[in-house]
Amino acid sequence: MLDADFFRRWMTATAASVDREAERLTALDSPIGDADHGSNLQRGFRAVAATLEKEAPDTPGAVLTLAGRTLISTVGGASGPLYGTLLRRTGKALGDAGEVSEAEFAQALRTGVDAVSTLGGAAPGDKTMIDALVPAVDALPDGFGAARSAAEEGALATTPLQAHKGRASYLGERSIGHQDPGATSASLLIAALAEANG
Ligand code: ADP
Ligand code: MG
Ligand code: MG
Repeated sequence: MLDADFFRRWMTATAASVDREAERLTALDSPIGDADHGSNLQRGFRAVAATLEKEAPDTPGAVLTLAGRTLISTVGGASGPLYGTLLRRTGKALGDAGEVSEAEFAQALRTGVDAVSTLGGAAPGDKTMIDALVPAVDALPDGFGAARSAAEEGALATTPLQAHKGRASYLGERSIGHQDPGATSASLLIAALAEANG
């Protein structure tokens, strides 16, 4: 079973990983974006870690909805509302249980990913964070390690794609040949699940 502490560890592990990888995320956002993805998420997840420490929500759902609200209010770029929606809707789907099973979490995360698709209008293959998130939720029933591998493969597979959503889509065919920054950060978020578990 996964308790509020697990979800707090997930968020702090993500914040640490985003800190470590911020320069790389911003570098990926340079040729096909506006070179701010690393700094956007660094600001957002630092605020998430600080807020969770201060408010100490005591259910899985409350941890994720607070994390999502914090991202929405601190990240100005496209990724703030999208990741914020992912966490808020996943948290809402978990309800007010004190502990949730891995299967319940997998189902809730799918609800969250669906909400990201609805908000941003992106489908798999559009070269966005969806290309890492959808394979990750598909693999999640096989465990956190399987989800991490699927997300990493999904992020790598964005390189040959042409972007159809977000800033990168303004480049048309010139977006081809670059790995998507948001799919890359999504793979960090999913990889942090295994860290929070171990
Ligand atoms: P901005 O583009 O506003 O500067 P960021 O650089 O923080 O925001 O985030 C860019 C990332 O957001 C992209 O790499 C992509 O993965 C993701 N993204 C952008 N638009 C969408 C969308 N409509 N749906 C899903 N993801 C998107
Ligand atoms: Mg950007
Ligand atoms: Mg921007």
